[in-house]
Amino acid sequence: MAKLRKDEVGQGRAFYVFYCPGCGNCHSFEVPRWTFSGSMDKPTFTPSLLCNQSDPASRCHLFVTDGKIKYQPDCHHKFAGQTVDMVELEDLADGR
Ligand SMILES: [Zn+2]
Repeated sequence: MAKLRKDEVGQGRAFYVFYCPGCGNCHSFEVPRWTFSGSMDKPTFTPSLLCNQSDPASRCHLFVTDGKIKYQPDCHHKFAGQTVDMVELEDLADGR
């Protein structure tokens, strides 16, 4: 099952959206700015994704490797420093 939703934006660019259980909402990364393995089931992308860098109260910093989210210790939420499985996006689709 897909852990990502692809939003094409043209000119060879696309956003991939995934659910972050730490923040309780979705994050996205952009290709080709990030390097993506192409697997929707067990995604890997590099480098890391850093959200809200300037605000420690909402900062989220993670790696995604082989379908797992590896949270870095500087995350604001309870998963900081932990690795969790990605969740399927089936229930989160917005109908677009
Ligand atoms: Zn997050």
